[in-house]
Amino acid sequence: MSAAPAPQPGIMEIELYQGGASKVDGVTDVVKLSSNENPHGPSPAAMAAAQAAVAEMNRYPNTDHASLRAAIADVHGGLDPDRIVCSVGSDEIIHLLCQCFAGPGDEVLHTHHGFLMYAISARAAGAAPVSAPERDRRVDVDALLDAATERTRLVFIANPANPTGTLLGGQDLVRLADGLPEGCLLVLDGAYAEFAEEFDGGLTLAGTRANVFVTRTFSKMYGLGGMRVGWGYGSRDVIDVLNRVRGPFNLSNIALAAAEAAVRDRDFVEMCSADNAAQRARLRAGLAALDIPSDPSEANFVLARFADEAEAADCDAFLKSRGVIVRHPRSYGLPHCLRMSVGDAAGTGRLLDALVAWRAG
Ligand SMILES: *Cc1c(COP(=O)(O)O)cnc(C)c1O
Repeated sequence: MSAAPAPQPGIMEIELYQGGASKVDGVTDVVKLSSNENPHGPSPAAMAAAQAAVAEMNRYPNTDHASLRAAIADVHGGLDPDRIVCSVGSDEIIHLLCQCFAGPGDEVLHTHHGFLMYAISARAAGAAPVSAPERDRRVDVDALLDAATERTRLVFIANPANPTGTLLGGQDLVRLADGLPEGCLLVLDGAYAEFAEEFDGGLTLAGTRANVFVTRTFSKMYGLGGMRVGWGYGSRDVIDVLNRVRGPFNLSNIALAAAEAAVRDRDFVEMCSADNAAQRARLRAGLAALDIPSDPSEANFVLARFADEAEAADCDAFLKSRGVIVRHPRSYGLPHCLRMSVGDAAGTGRLLDALVAWRAG
């Protein structure tokens, strides 16, 4: 047998992405708080639209996503729909940005605890991922500006960030965007922007600067993680580049219909947002009462800090034995932490009860 051909440089350095666990052996009734999913499910309107679109499965979907882009533009205060691109989750946009703007010899900058997909997509494009330090689990603008070189093509920050839940404010974002070298695109990953109060996810900044690009997703607030829809907003030039490379039929009829109905269902978003804020405050207060510190979170999860990795692992195992699945973010350089998605009232109650029982030993 002849040898399999070698892949492009960089690809074998990619570590396989691990999704959040969803099962515990021997426990049937689990509450999954490991993937930042919407505990209220998708909106009923999105489910109905997806069901109606099933009958059109024989037809190719449209390639320009005009109707979904118009809905997104509307709901976000009248964006220019021609500056929006729709994708298979925001992961596809992250991937396309790396493929289109970075290659061998180039650097892709991210923050120390940044989302793992940035480094994966950079390597897949043959570029080198570069990590800049954070300060107290927050994006450090000066560290990013120091780390940016003439080779830097892309700078990714998630805002609010995952897995830390912290938010970089408007003035800092402007300073970062204006301080980066020429020829470098700042990507603001807004996967959790809907959960942050009084924050537009960087849309205004991207609206006025050609070196800023925003990515958004239907996977978190909209409860469509399984449907795989995301979108990006940036200058027409960047959108044009991405549209040349993305698959023309990247989104199915069903996904397009579900996403459009979801983005228009503002009552559902308001309900989810209010409940997330309430349960998030309850979770942080419950953690604090057990002397488990956490940073204020602007997202739909809380990063709980333990004394060390062993204590975090012990708590994680105990929670699992009670059917509560959270995320131990070792691969994010946070081995002493557990990232806990905010559940509904019942899920949060179960998590807090289990934490109390763990503390009691
Ligand atoms: C969940 C998440 C995404 C969303 O990925 P999709 O491909 O849209 O499901 C993007 N960025 C960050 C930081 C995330 O946590």
